[in-house]
Amino acid sequence: MIASFRERFGYGDGVRVFRAPGRVNLIGEHTDYNLGFVLPVALEMACFAASAPSRDGRFRVYSENRNASREWAAGEVASLKPSKDWSDYVAGVMQQVLAAGFAVEPCNLYVRSTVPEGGGLSSSAALEVSTALALLAGRPIDPLELAKLCRRAEVEFVGMPCGIMDQYISVFGREHAAVRIDCRSLENEIVPLPEVEILAVNTMVKHELGQSAYRQRVQECRTAVEAVGGVESLRDVDLPRLEAAAARMPETVFRRARHVVTEDQRVLRFVEASRRNDLAEMGRLFVASHRSLQHDYEVSCAELDFLVDAALEIEGVFGARMTGGGFGGCTVNLVRPDKAASFRAAIAVAYRGRFGIDPRIYSCRPARGAGEAASPEK
Ligand code: ADP
Ligand code: MG
Repeated sequence: MIASFRERFGYGDGVRVFRAPGRVNLIGEHTDYNLGFVLPVALEMACFAASAPSRDGRFRVYSENRNASREWAAGEVASLKPSKDWSDYVAGVMQQVLAAGFAVEPCNLYVRSTVPEGGGLSSSAALEVSTALALLAGRPIDPLELAKLCRRAEVEFVGMPCGIMDQYISVFGREHAAVRIDCRSLENEIVPLPEVEILAVNTMVKHELGQSAYRQRVQECRTAVEAVGGVESLRDVDLPRLEAAAARMPETVFRRARHVVTEDQRVLRFVEASRRNDLAEMGRLFVASHRSLQHDYEVSCAELDFLVDAALEIEGVFGARMTGGGFGGCTVNLVRPDKAASFRAAIAVAYRGRFGIDPRIYSCRPARGAGEAASPEK
């Protein structure tokens, strides 16, 4: 990283490298912005940001993945407007770091990420958190404040009304464990996992519909909350209460809310099952989550449904479901470790046979959260 930085910017003194991981969400999909429960795992795949003070008073960022750079005058940063491209994640974080009261010296940033973009493994939060750490350059920040600041960048500057999960797990990730996050209290519980291989399979597609549908789901959940009445979010609603209010909301809104309400319960049951090493139950909950996202929340797509259905036919698979926002991206699969290699081969053959695309498959070993890093291997 430091050599690449030097090559790009012409000097290498004072360069520090910060790492922030992507994540795979095991269960609890579309529950974070409803203040419910999620259970993500931080990944070894991560975004790395190398930074050093600039020598001409300007901010500059180069993304190796994009082979593109942007630059701003120091005085310009606070009043920047979104430009609807990748640099918004960086500019948004710059503004939020300033707004949080940190003085930020003009610097050069070199970004390299191993998290696939738009794959539902949260390359965006990895970019935000690594950028924030690089701008802070070692100054201490409360980890929860760091996560919140990065989320604000995505909500307020990028314009994506996301929940807290992605930034939170990128900061709070643990080796060998998943992290159950209570998206209301913002407390977490470390959840050790049984002996199982977690494999993400990338559909390699991202349907356009995704962004607008996400906003629409956020809105539909608000409509459900208003129809139920007297509650802050769907977190406060159980199934009987929702059913009692069903007549006061459109049928579609009812199904959206039913997904959220039942998904919160599935997260809690999954954590209990994990604690008793009950992989069969964990697998059943995976499938129930997927069906709920497929039929009630309607954020799946043909490619994801195919990958889930195909996985369930393969030996050694406990369960499979879509992960992330939906409309493409990855499925997450719980696989017996001794069957992982045969699973990889079988799912790739099936997907290629149906869609003519080679799916990328990632091993999702739980990794630690963000921090200063040694240089990643190229
Ligand atoms: P996900 O977070 O699931 O990968 P998003 O749509 O939320 O998908 O975020 C992907 C976006 O984040 C990309 O389109 C790009 O704008 C930005 N991004 C992520 N990583 C990088 C990177 N290494 N360089 C430049 N932009 C990046
Ligand atoms: Mg994202």
